[in-house]
Amino acid sequence: MDASCLFCRIVAGEIPASVVHETAETLAFRDINPQAPTHVVVIPKQHVADAAALSTEPELAAAVLAAGAAVAGAEGLDGGYRFVFNTGPGAGQTVFHAHLHVLGGRALTWPPG
Ligand code: 5GP
Ligand code: ZN
Repeated sequence: MDASCLFCRIVAGEIPASVVHETAETLAFRDINPQAPTHVVVIPKQHVADAAALSTEPELAAAVLAAGAAVAGAEGLDGGYRFVFNTGPGAGQTVFHAHLHVLGGRALTWPPG
């Protein structure tokens, strides 16, 4: 737990979140500023800075991906959905606790722009 980390504070229950899925290793909650009808953020409960750091812990990375897939199923995103890991400030990462965005519920264009 990093007391200065927003997502660690959500895991600790210090900041409320709309939780949609939880496992021993992961927590998933609705994004406060949704970019699609379904926009859920899946995080490892353990503090890991970004997706590159998460990749060094393969079991935890797999748990995050599996939780994302479970969320997509529960949200009924049968037509397709997008997984996004913004990694680094230049890619728009603003919270430096690794998180998987699960986006769906509308047509998602590619490339995203
Ligand atoms: P990033 O830009 O780092 O990839 O994604 C961080 C995400 O966290 C953003 O989409 C932002 O809307 C979301 N976010 C920031 N603060 C909060 C919060 O307090 N609660 C929730 N549920 N989401 C947040
Ligand atoms: Zn953290």
